Amino acid sequence: VVAVDVGGTEIKAALFTGTGDDVTAVARQRLATPKTGNGSTTADAVVEAVAGLVVTLGAHTERPVDAIGVVVPGVVDEETGTGVYSANLGWRDHPFRARLSELVGRPVAFGQDVRAGGLAEVRLGAARGLRDAVVLPIGTGIAATLVVGGRVLAVDGEIGHVDVGHGDRCGCGRTGCVEAHGSSAAIARRFTARTGRPVAGAADVAALVRAGEKDATVVWQEAVDALARGILVLAALLGPRAVVLGGGLALAGDLLVDPLRDRIDELTTFHRRPELRLAALGDEAGCLGAALLALDTLEEKR
Ligand SMILES: [Zn+2]
Repeated sequence: VVAVDVGGTEIKAALFTGTGDDVTAVARQRLATPKTGNGSTTADAVVEAVAGLVVTLGAHTERPVDAIGVVVPGVVDEETGTGVYSANLGWRDHPFRARLSELVGRPVAFGQDVRAGGLAEVRLGAARGLRDAVVLPIGTGIAATLVVGGRVLAVDGEIGHVDVGHGDRCGCGRTGCVEAHGSSAAIARRFTARTGRPVAGAADVAALVRAGEKDATVVWQEAVDALARGILVLAALLGPRAVVLGGGLALAGDLLVDPLRDRIDELTTFHRRPELRLAALGDEAGCLGAALLALDTLEEKR
């Protein structure tokens, strides 16, 4: 299968062989995401780029490519194969799956990048083998992939917008949301608001925390508190064995995991304390997830 992860700046693609539990990349390719000014033409340019990747990557195997898996950011309707909305790339209601099937003449699986990455962590990564787990990518926003009783639930929930009581306003218009303190974007923004010092992102704040800088430490602790409370909501509802931390913020490693574990311990009474793990697949997760979606389509056809 050819798997393609369309990002805001870059398209990552690979040719995979294997089954739904074990995939191997045979060849990889990356290219800049085409941007043509308006959303619908951008979507068409992305479709053409993906079709081109199927040809160039397909040349690395003597067998025909069986299926294509494509994941994109934003709001996605997986049933109809539609890219409903992408703030970054500007499209609305683009029928990606239909256009691509026409162009490549193969079955096309179409999904959302974060959910697909979560699926990959569940089937191939840090949550592999667990019947109850949550994959929590923390980046600009916060999403969750839920595994309940061994099944990955396709949900549109918004754990990032649960009110955890800090009282600060969120971009969504309400107050107290997990991501208004806990996302990478919030950490960078809140540090700058507090100190007047611009930073490139949460990684800069993390470096200052390591160096013992006071304001960075306060912002970091407040982020940890919001995330711990959000995880406790998940623990109360689902009782997961593990929570897999992913996304850009998870690159902070122990600086995130250790205080988060302590804060969860302080706040927990009788709930099962989920084990905290770091995501295993890094920025490959979306592409691997797209491969799994493509392989699943083939399974369904059998
Ligand atoms: Zn919110």
